[in-house]
Amino acid sequence: MLSRYLSSKYQSLQVYTPGEQPRDMRYVKLNTNENPYPPAPGVVEAAAREAGRLELYSDPVCADLRDALAARYGVSRENVYVSNGSDDILYFAFMAFAGGGAKAYFPDISYGFYRVYADFTGAEYRQIPLREDFSIDPADYMNLDGFIAIANPNAPTGMALSRAQVEAIVASNPNHVVLIDEAYVDFGAESCVSLTGKYDNLLVVQTFSKSRSMAGARLGFAIASEGLIADLERIKYSTNPYNVNRVTLAAGIAALESDGYNMENCRRIVETRKASAARLKDMGFEVLPSSANFLFARKKGVDGGMLYRELKARGVLVRHFDAPRISDFLRITVGTPEQMEALFGAIQSILEG
Ligand code: PMP
Repeated sequence: MLSRYLSSKYQSLQVYTPGEQPRDMRYVKLNTNENPYPPAPGVVEAAAREAGRLELYSDPVCADLRDALAARYGVSRENVYVSNGSDDILYFAFMAFAGGGAKAYFPDISYGFYRVYADFTGAEYRQIPLREDFSIDPADYMNLDGFIAIANPNAPTGMALSRAQVEAIVASNPNHVVLIDEAYVDFGAESCVSLTGKYDNLLVVQTFSKSRSMAGARLGFAIASEGLIADLERIKYSTNPYNVNRVTLAAGIAALESDGYNMENCRRIVETRKASAARLKDMGFEVLPSSANFLFARKKGVDGGMLYRELKARGVLVRHFDAPRISDFLRITVGTPEQMEALFGAIQSILEG
């Protein structure tokens, strides 16, 4: 229960509900889109080395990690912002570009935090419905009068726009920031990082949580024009300048030094995704075309909530959203082939029962 001291403007906030992280037993955990493989070689050693220096503050400029990201993506340090998870960047972006009554647009079915941040920062927002087939119609985002946030690939559908489609949206909104959330881009969608040199209103956000197996380290980054990066820095220096800790900075640099390992894991996950989608279709599921490390699937005549609960009872955790249009779907993170076998076995036993 809230205390009576909480500012009245926060008492009616609808907060984001993170996926479960239960501790009652060991689950086959396919519910929060974590990477099933461990972090790259060198990450653990780098983190351990840095842990011995925790008496010192971290570098507020994050110079070494930003330089490593700049080299990896062919931009300059001034075009890179790093933060304590990409959620932090999304929040800063809503604050910087949509807060205080400005307008904001995002899809009605997308990452749930967009609505929370819009509410929290006082944006006047409109959620644009996906098409009947759950795809985003780029025409809906042309010539708008406010900040735009799009996850590409979208979550929880996994469906992606092409780079050309995103470019058309960015080009048609020159007076507003377009944020492209590429949390899942390394699993097969076209990244728009290469467009950031051409459009000063494009903010591309990525994370180390998914393709680099570092969800627990909390490390996100943005690539954009110098001006947009300076805007984010301004908010950081008005709130928490040490928002990326020493251990995570060192781990991030080490992860980039072995990025071939990370991208190879992405390739394995894409392979498992393809095989798993085929398997689910064989079992009678409709599976949306995913470019991410998860599948969004439903089966006619089978209640999504029931399937989620029965899977949990069998030790397999997936994500179910009790929301209009998608309550009969499950979002299933692509794990190792062994984890997916456990999922299919459990589904089979539920359907037969
Ligand atoms: N964007 C999307 C679309 C996501 O699904 C997530 C993960 N929940 C995030 C951003 C945030 O990821 P993180 O804060 O771990 O970088």
